[in-house]
Amino acid sequence: RKAELAVWVDKPSLAKDGHRIELAANIGKLDDVQKALDNGAEGIGLFRTEFLYMGRQELPSEEEQFQSYKYVLEKMAGKPVVIRTLDIGGDKELPYMDLPKESNPFLGQRALRLCLERDDLFRTQLRALLRASQYGNLKIMFPMIAVRDELFEAKRILKEEKQLLIEAGVAVSESIEIGMMIEIPSAAISADLFAPHVDFFSIGTNDLIQYTMAADRMNETVSYLYQPSHPSILRLIRLVIEAARQEGKWVGLCGEMAGDLASVPLLLGLGLHEFSMSAGSLLQTRELIAGLNYAQWQEHAKQALTLGSQQEVQAFVQEIQKGEN
Ligand code: PEP
Ligand code: MG
Repeated sequence: RKAELAVWVDKPSLAKDGHRIELAANIGKLDDVQKALDNGAEGIGLFRTEFLYMGRQELPSEEEQFQSYKYVLEKMAGKPVVIRTLDIGGDKELPYMDLPKESNPFLGQRALRLCLERDDLFRTQLRALLRASQYGNLKIMFPMIAVRDELFEAKRILKEEKQLLIEAGVAVSESIEIGMMIEIPSAAISADLFAPHVDFFSIGTNDLIQYTMAADRMNETVSYLYQPSHPSILRLIRLVIEAARQEGKWVGLCGEMAGDLASVPLLLGLGLHEFSMSAGSLLQTRELIAGLNYAQWQEHAKQALTLGSQQEVQAFVQEIQKGEN
């Protein structure tokens, strides 16, 4: 099977009718970059930078972060690299930071919320990113945004740090795209309010599903509610893609759903531009997409949105795929 899949490593990601999408990898550690390339990644769709902060005794310095970002950008040699700013909190803790205990960490001061509060930490990361930007094709992404002011504030701080670096004579790329994750229902529902102010969206279904269903993504007893193919989730994804399309922006998806073979046909049909997943899922996804007709799946996706449950959606998709083989 491995040898069979290897033929897809250097191929572009094309549907049967020639529609092109991008297949990118999610990474956490620096070692993951080589694995992404070995598996034919056309970019990095999500660099979870919190892993640079975890499993150690103190915050990583600006220099250390700069070296890590530079390494990834250079290694990807001009291919797009989406680096997400720190997403700590929720299930990811930093013992050395001594953050207050919260009774609902997933609904608490997580990710960008913490970064806007502790902007010393945020600014350090942004400076490291800006300095690294000249070594490749960097895109900066903000996690866990619920309302537009959070985006505005993050962008304002980024702009300030950029200005300071330029005044200090540091080279900073002029073509860094700025995007945000869509992983909170309010952001998905009002994606049209955000779209004019970003270059791209990346849908984080791991959290979007948990928050939409009010079902903790770590809690086995409610995992039956964790339904990627539920019409409510598909409709949110459609809303986001539609809002982006209106503004000519691109949309990726970097939750587990992107590499789930049962979900990929509908995501393709909904018009997703970039699928980002763990490296091990890339080649089988490329192979699957090569057998799908985009124009037809656009129609199928429209129909799927009218169905009554995840079971109905899954049965519908399976039925079509059976017919195609
Ligand atoms: C997500 O929420 O889908 C996502 C990609 O982010 P994380 O899994 O790191 O929360
Ligand atoms: Mg998330």
